[in-house]
Amino acid sequence: MLQQRPVTTLQHVNICDRCGKEMQRDAIDGEWSERLTISFRAGYGSVFGDGNIVECDLCQHCIKDLLERYLRIIHDDSFDPKHKPQVERYRIYQDYQLCDEAQKTAVWEEFKRLARAHSKKLEEREQQMKIQAAAEK
Ligand SMILES: [Zn+2]
Repeated sequence: MLQQRPVTTLQHVNICDRCGKEMQRDAIDGEWSERLTISFRAGYGSVFGDGNIVECDLCQHCIKDLLERYLRIIHDDSFDPKHKPQVERYRIYQDYQLCDEAQKTAVWEEFKRLARAHSKKLEEREQQMKIQAAAEK
């Protein structure tokens, strides 16, 4: 017997705080991956007030409208990159900026993953240097 049933699913949607644009995680428009989320706890002496939480979600269009004059846009090929970000601050947090144990655990796990990846690169580089030194003898 053929039947039909209603199905309820949850979508991950981020709403731009400036223009209200919806950015869906599963959409093919790429807006989700180009969004900017700001979320941190203000520190001592912050213009946002000591200890306050500061949050904002912006779509790429609002990022461009608001920040384009301050951004340094370096042309590059994502399939053959020639440049790296000048400062690798991505996913680096101060402990006071993390609100709960789940966030701290997630950041710690990400740090360990990055450290393992970096360690593997160092081992590969050392191995290459040994091979090169042996070849030069
Ligand atoms: Zn927007």
